Amino acid sequence: MEQPRQPGSPVEERGITPGECLATGHDQPWAVWKTLNRLRVGEGRCKASMKKWNITTSDACACGEPQTMEHLMNCTQAPQCTGDDLAEPTAAALACANHWKDEI
Ligand SMILES: [Zn+2]
Repeated sequence: MEQPRQPGSPVEERGITPGECLATGHDQPWAVWKTLNRLRVGEGRCKASMKKWNITTSDACACGEPQTMEHLMNCTQAPQCTGDDLAEPTAAALACANHWKDEI
């Protein structure tokens, strides 16, 4: 039975169509693919989430901004990418995922 879609979900906003197949980038090392998927859905172990889960007391990124999942794609101290980059994934998305793979 097909589950009802939630319009406006982070995945659909980034142009990714849910399906019963492996997400693109599955040819990458697992840590990179995991990070791509976490960036795509906007859920992961960023510092804002870790603070919300009472695992840490600070949500500050190394750049000084609050480190949300969205911030990870725009951080000035890391390779940047867009949601469109994540869908393919492009070289920019792979660089961003490689940078954050051990953190989130
Ligand atoms: Zn940052």
